[in-house]
Amino acid sequence: MGKPTGFLEFTRELPKKRDVQQRIHDYKEIEKPYAEEDTQKQAARCMDCGIPFCHNGCPLGNIIPEFNDAVYEQNWEYAYEILASTNNFPEFTGRICPAPCESSCVLGINKPPVAIEFIEKSIIEAAYSRGLVQPNNAIKRTGKAVAVVGSGPAGLAAAAQLNKAGHTVTVFERADQIGGLLRYGIPDFKLEKWVIDRRLDVMKAEGITFKTNTNVGEHVKAKELLADFDAVLLTGGSTVPRDLPIPGRELKGVHFAMEFLSQQNKRVAERPVEVDHRGVKYASGDIFATDKNVVVIGGGDTGSDCVGTSNRHGAKSVTQIELMPMPPAERAESTPWPNWPMMLRTSTSHEEGCDRHWSINTKAFIGDENGNLKALRIVELDWQTVDGKMKMVEVPGSERDIPCELALLAAGFLHPQQEGLLDALELEYERGNVKAVNYQTTTNPKVFAAGDMRRGQSLVVWAISEGREAARAVDLFLMGDSQLEAKAKSMFATV
Ligand SMILES: Cc1cc2nc3c(=O)[nH]c(=O)nc-3n(C[C@H](O)[C@H](O)[C@H](O)COP(=O)(O)OP(=O)(O)OC[C@H]3O[C@@H](n4cnc5c(N)ncnc54)[C@H](O)[C@@H]3O)c2cc1C
Ligand code: SF4
Repeated sequence: MGKPTGFLEFTRELPKKRDVQQRIHDYKEIEKPYAEEDTQKQAARCMDCGIPFCHNGCPLGNIIPEFNDAVYEQNWEYAYEILASTNNFPEFTGRICPAPCESSCVLGINKPPVAIEFIEKSIIEAAYSRGLVQPNNAIKRTGKAVAVVGSGPAGLAAAAQLNKAGHTVTVFERADQIGGLLRYGIPDFKLEKWVIDRRLDVMKAEGITFKTNTNVGEHVKAKELLADFDAVLLTGGSTVPRDLPIPGRELKGVHFAMEFLSQQNKRVAERPVEVDHRGVKYASGDIFATDKNVVVIGGGDTGSDCVGTSNRHGAKSVTQIELMPMPPAERAESTPWPNWPMMLRTSTSHEEGCDRHWSINTKAFIGDENGNLKALRIVELDWQTVDGKMKMVEVPGSERDIPCELALLAAGFLHPQQEGLLDALELEYERGNVKAVNYQTTTNPKVFAAGDMRRGQSLVVWAISEGREAARAVDLFLMGDSQLEAKAKSMFATV
């Protein structure tokens, strides 16, 4: 433990954010730079608990008290070594993770928790700036070839681990750039894309091959994949969005959130904006929120990213509506510490300006004579508990039309795209996702699955965790033994 009285002396402080009026005019990261001494103070707040619940709350099993101690001692090299042993990409999680570790931090019982995510970001940035993140060029090769299909965080983590184990790894990606939702879902103001490129340079130098613009199932057939590789790992994500089939859905101005978001990421990257993140050609052309009344339908991360992007486009107004009731301001009784708390979350995008409404149902999209969206018909809901179950009842007389020229559907994702590769591989599905036991599919022992494609829509930290675990399962399958790190099983359910 670095400083026994640290948690009494120092308060939780995070890096300052850039001023709203400045940041909504660009797509740069929101946090301002910070000094390493700031991180040291935050690390000093860690109590080095006998039972570190933070470690258990993290899907990766990050060894948090140990790296906090190393940061307090300003031993960045050791801190990086500890962090890198459980997390391939702290530069992603240190920026965009909702930090379930912090929700289960013991200090969080009666004080603000340790700023673990910020410490994680500081460690990896200190490691890069000190030249500690170097390709490992001394890998002993096994002669086995593994295909990883999909280059999101699950595929990238698996590729890094499988390569470390000595296998020859090829990552296939149907988009024009590597990164999955890190690249074409999450906006630059949350994760600037040079952060991905910096990591890819290290991975390429370590011998991993990346093939973009390659839709496996179409450009490379399932049979070829099975013939050319000793094992195949599917990490294609959960890409089928939940639709809203109400009257007027066909109107011009109603779009899935991902069409809007991926287009903007491509604009920032100065790439052509003609195909979406699935490689499908846009029928709708460029989507802009400029001077429009925007309504974002869905209250999660994707919806919040639409809010931030709409404000950067210069929308006339931005409203976000959600079917479910407003969550409590503090941790709900149903999710006591150390569980992931059900509570109201206000993102940096919400801080930039947005009207938020809960318990709202959508009845119809209303168009003008030219088929353009002009309003959204909504109704307020009264959520009642009947026989222990939540039941939504429309509030009489509350139906009304709100002006809306751009509606963005951000109501989540159903499952991966099954037609094409997955059907050709004759896989089994569970709730629409690829069914697998210990990451191995139930129909072909050499085919594995991980990340959102197996687990359903989730988080980057879970995708990395799944990629690592699946890589170990593949390594065991190929070699009969594995030296890759295994994560300790969690004691309690987490996000
Ligand atoms: C808008 C948005 C914002 C989000 N924000 C956050 C956040 O702030 N924090 C957080 O933790 N999580 C966030 N998430 C969730 C997170 O991004 C995902 O859980 C995570 O990226 C899943 O990783 P994955 O590797 O399983 O799949 P993905 O990232 O979806 O990557 C799958 C990749 O596979 C490719 N692919 C699919 N099929 C094929 C094929 N047949 N051939 C070749 N390539 C194929 C796809 O093109 C894609 O690039 C967000 C999600 C969205 C949509
Ligand atoms: S639970 Fe919090 S205080 Fe305890 S070891 Fe983990 S980070 Fe430190």
